[in-house]
Amino acid sequence: MRYISTRGAAPVLDFEGVTLAGLASDGGLYVPETWPRFGKTAIAGMAGMSYVETALRVCAPFVGPAMAEAELRDLLTRAYAGFDHAAVTPLVQLDQRHWLLELFHGPTLAFKDVAMQALGLFFEAFLARSGRHVTIVGATSGDTGSAAINALAGRDGVEVFMLHPQGRVSDVQRRQMTTVLAPNIHNIAIEGNFDDAQALVKAMFNDRDFAGRFSLSAVNSINWARLMLQVVYYFYTAVRLGAPEHPVSFSVPTGNFGDVFAGYVARQMGLPIDRLIVATNENDILHRALTLGDYSAGVVKPTASPSMDIQVSSNFERLLFDLAGRDGSATAAMMRGFESARALSISAGQRAGAALAFDSARIDSDTMAQTIRWARDKCGQVIDPHTAIGLAAARACGAPAPVVTLATAHPAKFPDAVERACGIRPALPTRVQGLFDREERYVTLPAELAAIEAYIAELARPAAVAA
Ligand SMILES: *Cc1c(COP(=O)(O)O)cnc(C)c1O
Repeated sequence: MRYISTRGAAPVLDFEGVTLAGLASDGGLYVPETWPRFGKTAIAGMAGMSYVETALRVCAPFVGPAMAEAELRDLLTRAYAGFDHAAVTPLVQLDQRHWLLELFHGPTLAFKDVAMQALGLFFEAFLARSGRHVTIVGATSGDTGSAAINALAGRDGVEVFMLHPQGRVSDVQRRQMTTVLAPNIHNIAIEGNFDDAQALVKAMFNDRDFAGRFSLSAVNSINWARLMLQVVYYFYTAVRLGAPEHPVSFSVPTGNFGDVFAGYVARQMGLPIDRLIVATNENDILHRALTLGDYSAGVVKPTASPSMDIQVSSNFERLLFDLAGRDGSATAAMMRGFESARALSISAGQRAGAALAFDSARIDSDTMAQTIRWARDKCGQVIDPHTAIGLAAARACGAPAPVVTLATAHPAKFPDAVERACGIRPALPTRVQGLFDREERYVTLPAELAAIEAYIAELARPAAVAA
């Protein structure tokens, strides 16, 4: 498989290349040149398969010759061995229409582990082959950072710098990052919000000299390999609920548009997904874009679902590229306009294209809390605020049964909000107990490019050593 940039002006790369590169050199995001298609027989053949076998089928066309099948199977087996549920991503029925897909059985209790555990192993394998060394720079609203740090701690060839907005992540989220004391892990609390942190990371990549000097690489959801690894659970779940004969809808608590875009990829590959519901909290840029064509960034409002407190959804560019007929220069022009005006309008034609697959809903904090109570009282399930946003959107939209809400975080990751909503304080699973007794290590820096670059330059290994 060959990968092209959404802005049409970066080198074409193979799977190994896009995995290590993260962002494309023209500022765009890498996407496969074509969507592989699975016919009915191939999908029906996934019935009863294990998670790892399903992952192997779904990933094979994207990985292509970059990794032999036996090595890929071994990598996926190791990635999912650390999950605390034998089904990896178990499905729970709520009522006649609604299901929850539990994506939080990995080491840091959020869905990001599902992709990140494998991505860490892809990095290690590809770097070992070439003897290269990379500096991973990332911005996190909480869950990406802990998942990346857990997956990359102590791995050879990788130095990790993770920026989080100071005071805007939960105590559990922060401690899952800052108590990892491996020497290749560096946590930076930014005096700003998540969008500031994300903008700083983008600026570092755009600083060609700096990016080249330290071989910068990214593991946030702009990294194609992560999206590919998330496509897997759409197949695994739809097949369990009757695909290819019966279509399934998914409701996805959305921030950066990565997880729901993976659902779109599955749909493009031939999986019979009826509706993809983009569920947002009060930071509703995507809901406005999909319903009104108004993709304009406002001011981030802190909510009880902090991993979705985002105004600029980086992966939306991948959808815009498809809506623009996969025209890289048209997408580049749109994104340049957005970067200068912080706003762009989606044409009626493009909106109609998106509406073939997507619905959306904006869920406020009262409805979120009511939904936590509904799930507790009617279905005996304690759910986290992000999942509650997804479930509320699923209940508000008219999609036919079955509708699967992605349960993106374990409720114990956000115990205060859950307790406020339903009076129950969820306990941390035994495998992460002790988190509050461990030593923390991080630095606090202003949201200024020069300050961050100076800090990284002091600790990272220059690329020239390996070159
Ligand atoms: C990251 C995250 C989301 C949002 O996912 P995107 O891929 O950024 O849209 C939702 N819920 C939780 C718990 C998350 O960690």
